[in-house]
Amino acid sequence: AEAAAPRRIKALDPDVVNKIAAGEIIVAPVHALKELIENAVDAGSTSLEILVKEGGLKLLQITDNGHGINKEDLPILCERFTTSKLKSFEDLTSIGTYGFRGEALASISHIAHLTVTTKTKDSSVAYKAHYNSGALVPAKPGQSADPKPTAGRPGTQITVEDLFYNVPTRRRAFRSPSEEYNKILDVVGRYAVHCEGVAFSCKKHGESSTTISTQSSATTIDRIRQIHGSAVANELIQFESADRTFHFKAQGWTTNANYHVKKMTLLLFINHRSVDSSNIRKAIEQTYSAFLPKGGHPFTYLSLEIDPECVDVNVHPTKREVNFLREDEITEMICNDIRNKLASVDKSRTFMTQT
Ligand code: ADP
Ligand code: MG
Repeated sequence: AEAAAPRRIKALDPDVVNKIAAGEIIVAPVHALKELIENAVDAGSTSLEILVKEGGLKLLQITDNGHGINKEDLPILCERFTTSKLKSFEDLTSIGTYGFRGEALASISHIAHLTVTTKTKDSSVAYKAHYNSGALVPAKPGQSADPKPTAGRPGTQITVEDLFYNVPTRRRAFRSPSEEYNKILDVVGRYAVHCEGVAFSCKKHGESSTTISTQSSATTIDRIRQIHGSAVANELIQFESADRTFHFKAQGWTTNANYHVKKMTLLLFINHRSVDSSNIRKAIEQTYSAFLPKGGHPFTYLSLEIDPECVDVNVHPTKREVNFLREDEITEMICNDIRNKLASVDKSRTFMTQT
C-alpha cells in the first residue's frame, strides 16, 4: 500500500510555545519563588517579605525594598527576553547578577495571574500593573491596561496568583500544598543564610507568626541558628580558601566532629546562586568519613565564587546545575581546607579531654 500523504507542517501558536517554555522553567511554585528572590536581591533589597497560600499554588507574594522598576519599562516587563541585566551574548560570561535572560517574569505571566506594584526612589507614586501572557492587561474587563498610580513604599511587590491555572495537568500533579511549602521554606532558608545584610521573612497566609524570620543585621551564625537550630550553630567551624591560578574564592561554615546526623545538609552557592552539585556533595561527605561515625553526616554552608568566565551558567533555564572549569581541583582544595580545620579542632579536643 502507498504511504499516506504527509501532514502539513505548521508553526505552533506563539502562546502555546510560551506556555511550554514556561512549564520547563517553572515546574513547581518554588521555582517561581527562587526567580523572584533572585530578582529582589539583584535589585539591591535589604528586606524581603514572602507570603504563601496553599503551598504557593494559590498565592506567592514577595515584597522587597529594592530600586524598583521604571514606569516606562512596565509595558515590556513581562515580554520574553527583556532584561536590564544583559545586552550581548558576551555579557553572559561576565555577568555578576543572578538573572540573565529575562525569562522569569515572562514565564510566570503565561501560567499565572501576575500583579506588580513598584516604586522607584525618583517617583512620587507607586504603579500597579497586571499581566497575562507577557502583556499588560486590565484589572477588570473594560478598564484600561495602563499601570495605575497608587500609594506604596519604594521597592517592588510581585503577586503571583493561581499558578498553573491554565495548565490543568500540571496543577493536578500537586497533591500536597504542605510539601510545596516545605520546598519553599528550604529555598528561602538557603538565601536567608547566604544573603548577609538582607532581612528575610516567610509566612503562610492567614497565620500571624512567621516560619522564617531573620534580621538584616544577623550574622551568618545567627542565620544558621535561626533556621537550622542551635545543635548545628554551636558546632560550626569557619573555613576559607582561595587560589589565584584557579580563579576561585570559597568560604563557609561547616560542622565539627561533634555533630552528625543521618542526612547531609549542603547549602551551596556558586556566584551567589543556590545550586546543587553531586560532585561537591560527595567530596565533602568523603572528607567527613574520616571524622564521623559510620552513617553520620555533616551540615555545610559553602559559598563559592568563581571567575564568571570559568562558569557555564547557560546550561538550562532552570539553572540548577552549574558547570565550571577545574571543578575537580577546586573541590579538592576546598576539601583539604575543611579536612585541616576538622583535624585541628579534633586535636585540640583530644588534648583538652586528656588534661
Ligand atoms: P532577568 O532577571 O533575567 O533580567 P526577569 O524576567 O526575572 O529577567 O526580570 C526582568 C527584569 O525586570 C529584570 O531585568 C529587572 O530589570 C526587572 N525586575 C524584576 N524583578 C524586579 C524587582 N524585584 N525589583 C526591581 N526590578 C525587577
Ligand atoms: Mg530574574
